[in-house]
Amino acid sequence: MFREILGQDKAIEILKRAIELDKIANSYLFFGPEGVGKFTTALYFGMALNCHATLDKRPCGACASCKKFLTFSHPDFLFIFPFPKDPNKPDISIDREIKSEKILEEYKAYIDNKIETPWKEFFFPKNVGIRIASIRMLEHRIQLSPNEGNYKICIIENAEEMTTQAANAFLKTLEEPPEDTIIILTTSKPSSLLPTIVSRCQKINFFPVPRELIEKKLEENKSLENIEAKMYARIANGNMEKGLRLVEEGRIESREQTVEFLRILITRNDLQFLEFVNHYRTSKTQSKLAEIITHLIIWISDISYFQNYPTEIINLDKTDMLETLYQSNTNVDEYASDLINFLEEMLLKLEGHVNPQLILIVIYNKLSKTFFT
Ligand SMILES: [Zn+2]
Repeated sequence: MFREILGQDKAIEILKRAIELDKIANSYLFFGPEGVGKFTTALYFGMALNCHATLDKRPCGACASCKKFLTFSHPDFLFIFPFPKDPNKPDISIDREIKSEKILEEYKAYIDNKIETPWKEFFFPKNVGIRIASIRMLEHRIQLSPNEGNYKICIIENAEEMTTQAANAFLKTLEEPPEDTIIILTTSKPSSLLPTIVSRCQKINFFPVPRELIEKKLEENKSLENIEAKMYARIANGNMEKGLRLVEEGRIESREQTVEFLRILITRNDLQFLEFVNHYRTSKTQSKLAEIITHLIIWISDISYFQNYPTEIINLDKTDMLETLYQSNTNVDEYASDLINFLEEMLLKLEGHVNPQLILIVIYNKLSKTFFT
């Protein structure tokens, strides 16, 4: 099943070797960007350690142990993740009872999502954290000897969300781990963890997934046209989860918005532009605008390929617009890289919480100047 995880050969090689040589560390830190398979790898690693199949087939995904892992019902599988706190009720109590019904519902939704699609991020509506009650529950459960498997597997997802109190309590568990317990922390922000926690774990680095692999994976989805797979893979920018999510959500609105933006630019309809800009007044539109800017970067590179490398073009169904833009200013070698740098800078500004509307106006002016003066 490790083969399902794309672009993390190095990490998987290390883990497989550890299993083959029976040299398993007590605690691991899986770190790297979001959406590249850290959790799924942790899950499969835990499965492999308890799988009943022959060594080369682990994890098989089919034996009794694997099946229980895949449904999150294995008694030796502990899973801790950042979790909203109910302001009116205490945390999860020591006996693992969740007191608040609403939070229990969210908790179940989270687990269901993980069973269905382990790779997929689930967003809680409220502020989340890993609190001391969860760590106490963990301590309590790893004191019991394994019920079924060879190892107790404990995954702590997004471990950087541990509160200071929780992190300090957890440190004690890490200092004296029971032999049969394997703890795997996942994080995309290792610098937010206590250095004393980091230093006690074997670190496994995860990397952005190469674009070709995301593209290949997305192409498996038969309803997707090749050009869409290319586009989503480009926007996903190394984040496999994002790519899969974009496909699942159907045609991305941001592409249509980008085409609309360019149409307004080409017709130089300033009035329509003001209307367009109006949709990007609040900071909530930040991620939408970020997608549009990424699309614009693809458009600019398409324009630069227009004359000499037409096979590289991604927006193949919009060649008429590409041609209009190209013909408006054929000095593409001079302005393409400049524009792409400029757009990347705008992306950074957007992340730095500059008003989206303002950024959109700056982009509009810059593109108008490049193509139409
Ligand atoms: Zn198995």
